[in-house]
Amino acid sequence: MNLEKHHKISIWYFIVGIWVVLILQNYLAATYAVKTIPYSQFVQKLKQGKIVEVSITEKHIQGLMKPESSSEKDINFRTVRVAPDTSELLDKYHVNYSATIESTFFRDILSWIIPVLLFVGIWFFLMKRLTAQQPGFMSLGKNKAKVYKQEEIGVSFEDVAGVDEAVAELVEVIDFLKNPEKYLEFGGSLPKGLLLVGPPGTGKTLLAKAVAGESHVPFYSISGSEFVELFVGMGAARVRDLFDQASANAPCIVFIDELDAVGKARGFGGVPGHDEREQTLNQLLVEMDGFDPNIGVILMAATNRPEVLDPALLRPGRFDRQVLVDRPDKQGRIAILQVHLKKIKKLGDIDVEELANMTPGMVGADLASLVNEATLLAVRGRNKTVEKEHFEEAVERIVAGLEKKNRLINPKERKIVAYHELGHALVALSIPGTDPVKKITIVPRGIAALGYTMQVPTEDRFLMTKTELLGKIASLLGGRAAEEMIFIDISTGAHNDLAKATDIARSMVTEYGMGEKAGQVYYKKEPQAMFLQLGQGRTATGEYSEETARVIDEEVRNIIDQQYAVAMKLLDEKREILEEAATELLEKEKIDGSYLEKLIKEKGTEKPLEGE
Ligand code: ADP
Ligand code: MG
Ligand code: ZN
Repeated sequence: MNLEKHHKISIWYFIVGIWVVLILQNYLAATYAVKTIPYSQFVQKLKQGKIVEVSITEKHIQGLMKPESSSEKDINFRTVRVAPDTSELLDKYHVNYSATIESTFFRDILSWIIPVLLFVGIWFFLMKRLTAQQPGFMSLGKNKAKVYKQEEIGVSFEDVAGVDEAVAELVEVIDFLKNPEKYLEFGGSLPKGLLLVGPPGTGKTLLAKAVAGESHVPFYSISGSEFVELFVGMGAARVRDLFDQASANAPCIVFIDELDAVGKARGFGGVPGHDEREQTLNQLLVEMDGFDPNIGVILMAATNRPEVLDPALLRPGRFDRQVLVDRPDKQGRIAILQVHLKKIKKLGDIDVEELANMTPGMVGADLASLVNEATLLAVRGRNKTVEKEHFEEAVERIVAGLEKKNRLINPKERKIVAYHELGHALVALSIPGTDPVKKITIVPRGIAALGYTMQVPTEDRFLMTKTELLGKIASLLGGRAAEEMIFIDISTGAHNDLAKATDIARSMVTEYGMGEKAGQVYYKKEPQAMFLQLGQGRTATGEYSEETARVIDEEVRNIIDQQYAVAMKLLDEKREILEEAATELLEKEKIDGSYLEKLIKEKGTEKPLEGE
């Protein structure tokens, strides 16, 4: 290959160069052969009258002396000048002497310029090697992105289980790459950037590979951390190359794994002057703006820390579509286990559902290693097949490992989370005007939330009534209320809920004039009123007296207390439903809002809902 030859030749130049220098040095040394003698010997020769002439430099004495036998030539000698003044001695023995300033020119070349040349040579050589590492058929010798050919990948969507929603989105992308005319005819265009977001080990990298495997187009994959390593300025150059290559080879897919390594918010919390990464990020943004997705280049990236990404990356026209790759629920785990169990040739009689029950909280990568571990245990125990007991032991090992890393919640906590989430849901369902409950899950999400209740507004809202706001507060407090009712004790799990509820209550009093004692006065003095979002601006002080401040605090407190009581009462009426739903939720890990509604209807304890 062209490139390979080129860089071999440059190594040869280099070797020949060194060789020439060495020979030259030898030759010079031979012609100017100088014998170095001790000073004492010099003085002795001087006394014997054998010194012909000398020249004295700052540190040395050089000269000619007569040889032992007269047939030979005079000898060039050199000695270190020990006595500060040799001239007296030389006068005494009538030797011609002169003083010269030592010429250091030649020595400088040897000691300074050659090492520099060597370094430059080595540097060039290394650069060549580093940039030439790209394998494959289309290497332009500049980029480290790996190019996979379709056959090399061998991953299809069948290998990725339990993340059906993400797969559905990606199928659309593949369809575009395969039949772009179909979309372009309609004037449609695909999103430029597709970001896979989800906790570690949920199969983001695997999904990207599956996309490559299914789409039959070149797939450039590079990891964010690879961008940032190495020399200054390389990251940005690499991004440029990557996009150049991609445009030249469209249709194709570019995949940046671990985007957070490059994409961290600029000038935030980092070491100042760490602008290598910043340059890389800027270049990435520039390139993303510059290319037209309709030529068939799709940019994909994955991250498990979307919260640290620079907001610029998420703007429309950049990574504008985000695909959530979440932790699997029980059904998902069953599907994933089936994928991996299929690979085992000697499998005993295994109940997959039972296995899924034993592994709450585990993600795809954990399950893959569970299956592998069980197989290893079976082999080690010289069993004929992989049996249930092996899986049980493997689960124990993996759970112990994960618990150490704090990634699993224990059964007690799961129970608290289940009641807490149901508390939100049941209160929300019992109060007219709150958003309908879509689903409830105790599969941990992200880093902070242990479970969640998904409420989807039925329509876009621009105005909210006081009753609705109060209902919202009550449902936010429902989580803690349920905990208190069932476990008597309360947990820290509600702190986010409390923050949101307090925020709404405060806004009601200070912004919307809904307080009773504070009256219809706008107390908040802030540039932008954040509507129902947990804003950071709460600490800003408005223009009101301390007395008013106390009134506001009191009112906020009252609203919260009252709504907490409302939530408590509602839950108390529905305790039976709560218990039954909790059992179901702990078993299934995810239940639909419709299930709860049905349960409420069956038990018939709900107050008639207004307007329904
Ligand atoms: P991520 O990139 O999200 O951290 P990976 O894609 O690297 O996770 O997953 C690591 C391994 O775990 C995969 O190679 C695969 O064997 C297994 N795995 C993860 N998620 C799944 C899944 N949804 N279905 C099947 N296997 C999975
Ligand atoms: Mg990954
Ligand atoms: Zn909550």
